[in-house]
Amino acid sequence: MNKVLIIGAGGVGSVVAHKCAQVAEVFSEICLASRTLVRCENIQKSVKARTGRDIEIAQVDADRLPETVALIRRFKPRLVINVALPYQDLHIMDACLATGVDYLDTANYEPPDEAKFCYKWQWDYQQRFKEKGLMALLGSGFDPGVTNVYCAHAAKHHFDEIHYVDILDANAGDHGHPFATNFNPEINIREVTAKGKYWENGGWVETAPLSVKQSYDFPVLGPKNAYLMYHEELESLAKNLKGLKRIRFWMTFSDNYLKHLEVLQNVGMTGIEPVMFEGREIIPLQFLKALLPDPASLGSRTKGKTCIGCEVEGVKNGKHRKMFIYNVCDHEECYREVGSQAISYTTGVPAMIGAMMMLTGKWRGTGVFNMEELDPDPFMEKLNIHGLPWLEKVMAG
Ligand code: NDP
Repeated sequence: MNKVLIIGAGGVGSVVAHKCAQVAEVFSEICLASRTLVRCENIQKSVKARTGRDIEIAQVDADRLPETVALIRRFKPRLVINVALPYQDLHIMDACLATGVDYLDTANYEPPDEAKFCYKWQWDYQQRFKEKGLMALLGSGFDPGVTNVYCAHAAKHHFDEIHYVDILDANAGDHGHPFATNFNPEINIREVTAKGKYWENGGWVETAPLSVKQSYDFPVLGPKNAYLMYHEELESLAKNLKGLKRIRFWMTFSDNYLKHLEVLQNVGMTGIEPVMFEGREIIPLQFLKALLPDPASLGSRTKGKTCIGCEVEGVKNGKHRKMFIYNVCDHEECYREVGSQAISYTTGVPAMIGAMMMLTGKWRGTGVFNMEELDPDPFMEKLNIHGLPWLEKVMAG
């Protein structure tokens, strides 16, 4: 019996629920729990309509440890898939340790009062997961997630030494709104407005937010402006890819998106410090989130494609080699299949595949793992089967 508990009924949680339901031979029973039950109910109906399967639902506030522990004890899953927000990561890891259940997430921990994400907090759980004989898989989305697996695949099959990695994330989708974010607006804007950072020759180099850009010619999408940003997989890949000299992350933004973001920043709407408004404290970014379109509602209106990949450069058999490993995903096709846009889809599918790797024993171990530490082959094989096929373009060598 492979019971899974999914926590978080947002854009990504919906895709995870649908994709797990499609694979009944692995996911025999599914429970979707979240803070707002009506969101779970809507997803439950859609899963039934699209796959014919019944899933359980539950209300839980995952910031409250006893609530999550009680839910896990009642449902008895083998694995908890955490697709709530990064703020919940440590609480849910604690609940897994208390109940003896494996853990998976798609984004690393971030304290609510400080826009700073890093793996330290979760890597500190290494010993506790080992002692309990449990496995925690961190960052099983697309980036982080598939991008880490692409690097592991490149290291295993195409390179003797990897020297340079550029991770490139392009979304050429159009949702028709003047301004909206593709996933949780609060998390997204915190990430985009942070300083850029990349790793070179053993140290981190900081850049002003969105101050470094290049025009990159993406397969299918063509040339797009991509901006250097800090992204969490850089931290684990810089540690785990041996011989690496530099790793950077780039994301595309339209001029329209950047214009809106600049104005919002200039007027203080992206701040995370509380301000007084009519006698009560509000956090501007949380207020902005309430005004912006819900990412889960973008699915039906988004047209166009995403392309996310890793450009890897290094040496094979003494010769210089450079290649791009990537996926192209179509917003409208995702919506037809599971009722979500491609950003939620490209995150939710790898979360399901990571869970499948753990439940079928293809990926097994005790402690806390990043994706590149595990054998890329079975994961890469499942990407082709479950909706995120990959391609390779050799540019040199
Ligand atoms: P959404 O905001 O759409 O959904 C988050 C869900 O979590 C909501 O249903 C929310 O409930 C629920 N939630 C929030 N707090 C709690 C809590 N305390 N207890 C229980 N449930 C809670 O976000 P997304 O679906 O877009 O993103 C989900 C995760 O995926 C995020 O961590 C995000 O960073 C990550 N992500 C990872 C990517 C990758 O490639 N690795 C890419 C995109 C996203 P409510 O409805 O009540 O607000």
